[in-house]
Amino acid sequence: MFSRIAVRNQFLGRLKSTLVIAEHNNEALNPVTQNTITAAKKIGGDITVLVAGTKCGPASEAASKLQGVTKVLVAENEAFKGFTAESLTPLILAAQNQFKFTHILAGCTAFGKSVLPRVAAKLDVSPISDIIDVKSEDTFVRPVYAGNAILTLKSKDPVKVITVRGTNFEATKVDGGAAVEQAPAGDFKSDLTVFVSQELTKSDRPELTSAKAIVSGGRGLKSGDNFKLLYDLADKLNAAVGASRAAVDAGYVPNDLQIGQTGKIVAPELYIAVGISGAIQHLAGMKDSKTIVAINKDPEAPIFQVADIGLVADLFKAVPELTQKI
Ligand SMILES: Cc1cc2nc3c(=O)[nH]c(=O)nc-3n(C[C@H](O)[C@H](O)[C@H](O)COP(=O)(O)OP(=O)(O)OC[C@H]3O[C@@H](n4cnc5c(N)ncnc54)[C@H](O)[C@@H]3O)c2cc1C
Repeated sequence: MFSRIAVRNQFLGRLKSTLVIAEHNNEALNPVTQNTITAAKKIGGDITVLVAGTKCGPASEAASKLQGVTKVLVAENEAFKGFTAESLTPLILAAQNQFKFTHILAGCTAFGKSVLPRVAAKLDVSPISDIIDVKSEDTFVRPVYAGNAILTLKSKDPVKVITVRGTNFEATKVDGGAAVEQAPAGDFKSDLTVFVSQELTKSDRPELTSAKAIVSGGRGLKSGDNFKLLYDLADKLNAAVGASRAAVDAGYVPNDLQIGQTGKIVAPELYIAVGISGAIQHLAGMKDSKTIVAINKDPEAPIFQVADIGLVADLFKAVPELTQKI
């Protein structure tokens, strides 16, 4: 005799259910997890969040409070120290084996871009990277050619393994109350990689990918010392500081500040580009910002084509003036 669910499945096809891999530091979730859950809500069906770490109780509790989450699976194991793809993949596969999700999602960050291709390869499906919209349960939109073309793709794979561009999805609200359960147990220790250590830059400034305002500098700054002008302005605006690749390559600032095709993708309320020409590879990382302000001494600089407010001026004069007037 058919169960009601089996009969329903027969007529509706396999029921949608999404596994979202939480990105966190054991204590708190990375905000991209909230954006990824919104993408999962657009797909529809149940949403399970997997929180894997070492002492990740606070992060799993935070995940359980997110709107739209049906269930949180928590896995604590020394093997997950450093959140390596090699240790997390067997856990994700074990969860997939048990619950038969139709979709597996993570943010399109260094973490998601490291873990999900491995999961997709093990499931023998094509990873779908960096989606910016969900058209239906099998049709997704993603930028290609550094954002110069937009591709709509339909996936026929039985499980869709997807990374989500966080800036294109609102953060889901914090008003849920999902149950927290143990994830499938197993031996997740990997011989392939060993986590040695991690050095994180400490900053009182907002994190680049979640900042509401960003002041970004390019080769026009001419030296690392001159970035102080931008830090002073950023302090007034409670903004993060970013940079072009030319500024990073010249050693003015560390490379975790790089914005663009090969750097971070940002979409703050306010983006102030200072001494940045506006190469397509830079625009690929910031052109979705709500208001773009450009300060450049060259009126022909391509950055002015995407700027809402443009100031043709010498930055060494304009930036201190602006900082002083705020
Ligand atoms: C595969 C690939 C990936 C890449 N990925 C990235 C990426 O992720 N991010 C990225 O940014 N780039 C990336 N690039 C590099 C990109 O093509 C550009 O070279 C780079 O963005 C240029 O940086 P910039 O605008 O700071 O420098 P420049 O192009 O040299 O521009 C400097 C600007 O400063 C202005 N200026 C100079 N002095 C002053 C002054 N006193 N006052 C006001 N304005 C002044 C100039 O008019 C000029 O417009 C990539 C390139 C490749 C090939």
